Amino acid sequence: MNAPQRDNRLNFSGGPGVLPEPVLDQLQESIRAVPEVGLSVLGISHRSDWFAQVVRELEDNVRQLLGLGENYRVLFLQGGATQQFSMVPMTWLRGSPVAADYLHTGYWSGKSLPEARREGPVNLLWSGADEGFRRLPEDGELAYNPAAPYFHYVSNETVEGLQFRRVLGLEAVPRVCDMSSDFLSRPCEAERFALIYAHAQKNIGPAGVTVVVLREDFLGDRAGTLPPFLDYRAQIDAHSIYNTPPVFAIYAVLLVTRWLKDTVGGLAAMDALNRDKAGLFYGVLDDSDGFYRGHVRPEDRSLMNVAFTLGSPEQDRAFLAAAEAAGFSGLGGHRSLGGLRASLYNGLTREAVARLVQFMTDYRQRARA
Ligand SMILES: *Cc1c(COP(=O)(O)O)cnc(C)c1O
Repeated sequence: MNAPQRDNRLNFSGGPGVLPEPVLDQLQESIRAVPEVGLSVLGISHRSDWFAQVVRELEDNVRQLLGLGENYRVLFLQGGATQQFSMVPMTWLRGSPVAADYLHTGYWSGKSLPEARREGPVNLLWSGADEGFRRLPEDGELAYNPAAPYFHYVSNETVEGLQFRRVLGLEAVPRVCDMSSDFLSRPCEAERFALIYAHAQKNIGPAGVTVVVLREDFLGDRAGTLPPFLDYRAQIDAHSIYNTPPVFAIYAVLLVTRWLKDTVGGLAAMDALNRDKAGLFYGVLDDSDGFYRGHVRPEDRSLMNVAFTLGSPEQDRAFLAAAEAAGFSGLGGHRSLGGLRASLYNGLTREAVARLVQFMTDYRQRARA
């Protein structure tokens, strides 16, 4: 069997996602020795001055990129987004007589629901399940409860490829948002949220670390009854180093935020690049006379993930095999949805999208010939 002709720059994986090449170069070097330390990043103490500086700079970068005021805490936790599905209701829903408002817009928001119900009452404001998660709700379909302890939603549904283009919810109710798959991909009006969480492995780093942005007054004095590892206050007090943190993953996220600030030029610039890439990709779907079919309605299309199909599992498999033979990776759909998916995260270049688009155009012409 021949080794596959893979090219890392053509990795369209849904997650862990592709990282920018300049960041990979620095990470490669850091495995041997971080230049300013002389030791491998894999063997530097998390109690070192160097690592304390890494955490400080990363926090500053996140603050700057999002424009966060001093009333926000920035945490780097473990347990992924899945742990936040639990930590949020453990902290704000346990013992509450009033239900929290939740949306069910796709696979990942669906995963947050049972974890919340374990802790307290949940009001399901809207579900797209019956329609197969092909669209997002309109404002008129959402009867928010102004007395809810919080409102939870997912900004970008990674599996189906649905992304909100507006901030949802009432100003009076704390917004909690899972931004795992579009965090730092565009400006997001962060100060309108009480809590944002995003694991790193879709858009801003490797697996192992989850960024939590938390407004101090939302947390208030809600602390003390949970194990410290699951307690936001204890994690704040420990500056995200309550126990051994994933030093390598945090360092990688620092390098990605430096790249975002210094090379890309901030989130508005990143958004422009991402729009350009997504425009290119959706163009090939729209110009294909139905040969390539997107899963979701155009108004709710994600700039990060595009779920599509050629119409049947056999045709999708044939396309996938041809794409892999041509050097493209990660185009298989999520196991829950099937079909195909192209993820266009920050680290993926326009060049990579242009090459895929060319491949898809040629593939269609060959199939039609
Ligand atoms: C991938 C994903 C998750 C799951 O994250 P883990 O870090 O694996 O727990 C949750 N939410 C969204 C939006 C995702 O894309």
